[in-house]
Amino acid sequence: MEDIIIIGAGIAGLSTAIALDKKGKKPFVYEAAAEIKAVGAGIGMGANAMMAFDHLGIKEEVIAHAKIIDSFTILDQNGTAITKTDFNSLNKKYGVSNFSIHRAKLHKILLSKLGQGKVLINKKVLKINQKKDSVTIQFNDGTETESRYVIAADGIHSQIRKSLLPKSTARYAGYSCWRGVIKNKNLTITESSETWGSAGRFGIVPLPENELYFFACVNGPSDNQRFQNYTIDDLREIFKNFHDPIQQILQQTKPENLIWNDINDIRPLDNFAFGNIVLIGDAAHATTPNLGQGACQAIEDAVILADEIQKNTDYRKAFVSFEKRRLKRTKFVIETSGRIGKIAQLSNPLMILLRNTFLRLMPQSVNNKQLQKIYTIDF
Ligand SMILES: Cc1cc2nc3c(=O)[nH]c(=O)nc-3n(C[C@H](O)[C@H](O)[C@H](O)COP(=O)(O)OP(=O)(O)OC[C@H]3O[C@@H](n4cnc5c(N)ncnc54)[C@H](O)[C@@H]3O)c2cc1C
Repeated sequence: MEDIIIIGAGIAGLSTAIALDKKGKKPFVYEAAAEIKAVGAGIGMGANAMMAFDHLGIKEEVIAHAKIIDSFTILDQNGTAITKTDFNSLNKKYGVSNFSIHRAKLHKILLSKLGQGKVLINKKVLKINQKKDSVTIQFNDGTETESRYVIAADGIHSQIRKSLLPKSTARYAGYSCWRGVIKNKNLTITESSETWGSAGRFGIVPLPENELYFFACVNGPSDNQRFQNYTIDDLREIFKNFHDPIQQILQQTKPENLIWNDINDIRPLDNFAFGNIVLIGDAAHATTPNLGQGACQAIEDAVILADEIQKNTDYRKAFVSFEKRRLKRTKFVIETSGRIGKIAQLSNPLMILLRNTFLRLMPQSVNNKQLQKIYTIDF
């Protein structure tokens, strides 16, 4: 029987495997996919995630493949600034910065830290059965394994969470999102921004090696067949009244590099610990991406769970202590991010005018307070 099995080789599962490895534990990761690869374009790593990477011993390697993000501007669709957040003063205080990185690069770094044979692929969990002192796991290839403890890192649609809490399903936020990465050579964009207009929202994040990551969020019904079939030209039409260089970015996007998905979160849970099973990452606290914190919280989970596991010989107690340290913070992220999304996706021109006027008058200290809360972590 294994001691600890992690289900899911996403950012949460891999980070936790690294964190446990560092504590001398020997977890195995079981992944449904036939290949370990990142789905998505770029990703923002907040200063809190960088502090967590420091604990995992990989901060410098991540920085070597990332781009520092020292400001974030919200613009109206004409390109006039609504607010600008300067991260420099906070970065000085906490000694770390925000970064952006290509997801594929981040995944490669995480995977490289785990020994050969630590991640098993083609192992989709179908069913788990919790016994008195262990958990049996059934996979779709007909095999079964037993582990004393299971860490469920199987994402927002977590099979394991659904078996423990059948009512906890993904909640659609009301908007869909397209993402892509292009070469940034002729555009030379150095700052990250979001443009909030009546037709939708367009985000731009510079990446290393002259690349740029963009996302485009548009209101509409969930699982929309029309959205699913959207082409670059459809997006160009939606964002036709938005400032430069949004059209140029879309024009330069290769159709095969366009990724689409609905934006979902889950209602904050009351528990992450269920006897010998614990939920982490999106399986525990999936959030909308408006704060850029989903993966950052998953990386924090890794450090805190490993810390609790080291402190407790009975991991059931470790899981409960982990839950205590994580519930409030991840609830704050889910709720704040959800609220920001609603404000950012306003489409009524009068409401947009009111919002933009209000935000222009809002002192930077309000934003800083929120950032400080995110930067302040208990490890
Ligand atoms: C548009 C968008 C932009 C985002 N931007 C940011 C950002 O800038 N910064 C940030 O911090 N976060 C961001 N996020 C959130 C971030 O992507 C997620 O929070 C993060 O990837 C969650 O990682 P995870 O490992 O918990 O889950 P996942 O990445 O979903 O990984 C789960 C893994 O489990 C596997 N799996 C699933 N079911 C099973 C099963 N039954 N058996 C075995 N394996 C299984 C899956 O194949 C997958 O590999 C964004 C999200 C979106 C949608």
